Amino acid sequence: MELSWETYRIECTYPFGLSRGTADYYDILYVYFLGDGIIGRGEAAPSKRYDESTPQIVEVLENGIEIPSPDDILESWETGITAQAEGIKALESALSMAALDWWCQKDGISLHRYFHAEKENTPLTSFTVAIGEIDNIPQKIREAKPYSIIKVKLGTDEDKNIINAVRGCTDKPIRVDANEGWTLEQGIEMCQWLSERNVQFVEQPLPAEALDETSVLRDESPLPIFADENSLTSEDIPRIAYAFDGINIKLMKCGSLFEAKRMIDFAREHDLKIMLGCMVESSIGVTAAAHLSPLVDFADLDGNLLISNDPYNGVGVENGKLILPDGNGLGVSLKGKIEGLK
Ligand SMILES: [Mg+2]
Repeated sequence: MELSWETYRIECTYPFGLSRGTADYYDILYVYFLGDGIIGRGEAAPSKRYDESTPQIVEVLENGIEIPSPDDILESWETGITAQAEGIKALESALSMAALDWWCQKDGISLHRYFHAEKENTPLTSFTVAIGEIDNIPQKIREAKPYSIIKVKLGTDEDKNIINAVRGCTDKPIRVDANEGWTLEQGIEMCQWLSERNVQFVEQPLPAEALDETSVLRDESPLPIFADENSLTSEDIPRIAYAFDGINIKLMKCGSLFEAKRMIDFAREHDLKIMLGCMVESSIGVTAAAHLSPLVDFADLDGNLLISNDPYNGVGVENGKLILPDGNGLGVSLKGKIEGLK
C-alpha cells in the first residue's frame, strides 16, 4: 500500500466568524492510501485552536510514514500509524479515514456497517450561522431553509441582537455555541434568556480551563450544557462529566474514527448526551463522521455546506436529515478532475 497526499484550500461561502476570529478560507490536506486498484481517502482539517496546521502535517508526511501491511493496519492502529503522526490529531484522523475507507472497500462493506450503525438512523443536522454582519442574518436563514435546526455562534457583544435577528426570521429550534466566549455571570444570564427562545442547548459557554465554573453554570442553567473545547478525547470524559450534560465529538480533535467510537461508548457510560460535530471541512471528513452519526443523539455536520469549492460528493441532507452515500467504504467520489486530487 502506498500513501500520497495533496493540500487544498477550501473557501468559505461567508466569512466564518467565531468568538476567536474570522476566516475566509482554510488550508486542509487530503491523504490517499493506494493499493490493489483501491483509493482510500482521508481529510485533515487542522485547527489553530489546537495548535495544528497544514504545514506541520506536510512536514511529518515528508519525513515519511511507514505503512504496515493491509492485513495489520487496523489491528495495530495505535502503535503502527498513530505513533508516527507526532500527536497531530487532524493527521491521525485523516489516516484513519483513509485506512478504513481502503479496508472497507476491499472487504465490500460500508463504513457505517463496519461500526454496526444503521444507515436509516442518521439524525437531523443543524446548519451553522457564524458570527458576521447582523444584516446578513436574514439571507443566511433563507439559505438554511433545507435544515430544521439552526446553530448560532455567540460569544460577542451582540449576542442578544444576533438571536433576536434569527428569531425575527424563523422559529426553528436553535443550538447555541459560545466557543468559550462567556464568563460565568454572562453564562447564567444568557442561559436564562435563551431558555425562553426555543434554544435546545448551549455548547462550550466558558473557557475550557473554567471547568468548576461550568459545573456551577450547569446547576443554574435551565438549558443543557455541552462540551466541545473541553471534550477532545475519551480520556477527558471522566474528568469533565460532572460539569456537562453532553459532549461534542469531532474527528479532528479526537484523532481517529476508532477513538470517536470509544468516546461514544465512554459518554454513554457517563450518561452524557452525544453530538457529532466537525470543523469547516469538505465532504471526505464530514462523510466519515456521518457514518458514525446513527450512533449519537445530535449531529452538527455541516462543514461541507459552508464552503463553495467542495471537490467531493459524499453525505447528503434531505429535509434536514443526513443521507449516507451508497457504496463501500466512505462512499465518496471526486466531483470533477482537479489536479492532484484523487
Ligand atoms: Mg463548538
